[in-house]
Amino acid sequence: MKGDGPTRILVLGGGFGGVYTALSLEKLLGREIDRGEVELGLVSRDNYIVFQPMLPEVISGSIGILDTITPIRRLCPRTNLYTRAIESIDTKRRRVTAAAGFGSQQLALPYDHLVIALGNVTSFAGQPGLPEHALPFKYLGDALVLRNHAIHVLEEADIERDAEMRRSLLTFVVAGGGFSGVEAVAELNDFVRAAARSFRNLAPEEIKVVLLHAGDLILPELPASLASFAQRLLAKRGVEIRLNARLAGATGDAALLEGGGRIPTRTLVSTVPSGPNPLVSALPCRKERGRLVTDEHLQVPDHPGLWAVGDCALIIDHQTGRPSPPTAQHAVREARCVAHNIAATLRGAARRTFAFKALGKMGALGHRSAVAEVFGVKVSGFLAWWLWRTVYLMKLPGLDRKIRVAVDWTLDLLLPPDIVQLRTERSVGIRREHFEPGEVICEEGGHGDWLYIVVDGEVDVVKRLPGRGEVALRRLGRGDCFGEIALLGDHVRTATARSATAVNVLAVDRDAFQALFSSLPPLRNFFERLIEERMMPGSPGGQAAPGDRTPAPASAV
Ligand SMILES: Cc1cc2nc3c(=O)[nH]c(=O)nc-3n(C[C@H](O)[C@H](O)[C@H](O)COP(=O)(O)OP(=O)(O)OC[C@H]3O[C@@H](n4cnc5c(N)ncnc54)[C@H](O)[C@@H]3O)c2cc1C
Repeated sequence: MKGDGPTRILVLGGGFGGVYTALSLEKLLGREIDRGEVELGLVSRDNYIVFQPMLPEVISGSIGILDTITPIRRLCPRTNLYTRAIESIDTKRRRVTAAAGFGSQQLALPYDHLVIALGNVTSFAGQPGLPEHALPFKYLGDALVLRNHAIHVLEEADIERDAEMRRSLLTFVVAGGGFSGVEAVAELNDFVRAAARSFRNLAPEEIKVVLLHAGDLILPELPASLASFAQRLLAKRGVEIRLNARLAGATGDAALLEGGGRIPTRTLVSTVPSGPNPLVSALPCRKERGRLVTDEHLQVPDHPGLWAVGDCALIIDHQTGRPSPPTAQHAVREARCVAHNIAATLRGAARRTFAFKALGKMGALGHRSAVAEVFGVKVSGFLAWWLWRTVYLMKLPGLDRKIRVAVDWTLDLLLPPDIVQLRTERSVGIRREHFEPGEVICEEGGHGDWLYIVVDGEVDVVKRLPGRGEVALRRLGRGDCFGEIALLGDHVRTATARSATAVNVLAVDRDAFQALFSSLPPLRNFFERLIEERMMPGSPGGQAAPGDRTPAPASAV
């Protein structure tokens, strides 16, 4: 221990890596913490740990929303918890900065030992339309949003008369045939098919659930025989599995596939992409494929006192010589090893080399079946499902959570699925949208509820005229806006806006627009002038149809 004040150990991240590091340090250094010789802190955005293996069950509601999470304070009572977003890590000055809370002051946390367990982040970068239209599946909030969204589209489909729209509402697409994608699609499939029975106008055969997988067999982490079993079982339950199909992008009403395929849908879940945490990317340390390289003791080379565990770390298993996979069971073992090595460093004792052979792999397939490989033995069907539930129930942190989940599971065997839609989202205000070439952004005759600002790409404004068909009025580009007339006048749109190229737009809803319009005089003047200009017959902005000498009619979207 150092002489001047306590040794400060700071853990970053409240996932399996971070929380189990703090838990193990509390056990190993309990006396030193109590005597004030060691100060243990943990910084995380949330004050709970999410038990991700059970997250898919939140979609169907077979376990309660709060039952997959455990408060970190209860698990780690001797740790100072800082529930804040981390903004920077300064390895030279040995200091972490967290965002300001209610006040305006950032929080500066100095350290002697720093454990980085920041995991990965959802990243849709480089895939047009995915940030705007795909639902990620990693956090508790994602599972809740997906569940609410699924109920919302069933509600809409129940009253929708347009056959095409109905089909797209009742099509659910999940991209990614790994564990999280397969477990999510299995739960989603079970849930929407069971829930549909409570809707008067929905027939189960109208529902289509699609799983996209880039390889030629799902669950590449499992032996081929188990993966084939899972594939057959899902297909039998009505999941359409598209192999060698890669998601390339999305629009508001379709999933776009590599090679040009298109699946009309209003529900696209992508479990595929996860990118490095930007805090990890910014560290001046060696990385491979975005992961922090560690030595055999889980310390970052050339940075004494800097350690890394979990999904954000590249840790070579010294038994197999291969990088440890990004799983919860590895993160927990790495956490125990790093805690041991930090305690050993403080006491001048021998450090441990990390090695761990996974005990097994399991994936739930819904409907009381699963696939598992445990200690090299392959199991599938009901027995695997029973094993899955028993193992994860034992591993779930906190006795109260174990009891709650066990009760939920029992009730789920007896009761029908809950179809209450919770409206959790706040008013939208502004959102981004992506359109592929030739898509209608807003249609003549439709109600004007949004103002659109072109971020990039080009948009054609067109109008149907009796005897002349469709007439082009103008082409809009980056920085132009449309939709203001219908929004301000509260009447239907007088023209159609269609993407001429791939387009990204900012859509501003009525309330946000009205608030800006009424409280910002320069903006009000701008729109008044714009509307005047656009309403003038043959306005300079208006563009006549090719070969047409008559002036373009006064019209705007
Ligand atoms: C749906 C799903 C199912 C899974 N199923 C299984 C399974 O069955 N078995 C298995 O072994 N593994 C499973 N995994 C993988 C497993 O969950 C991860 O490998 C494990 O969670 C990694 O732990 P971690 O601590 O490294 O990262 P994470 O759990 O991602 O934790 C990172 C932590 O850092 C925090 N953080 C990040 N950035 C900041 C910031 N700027 N400020 C403050 N805090 C920040 C986050 O809030 C989070 O608390 C599953 C994953 C998912 C998504």
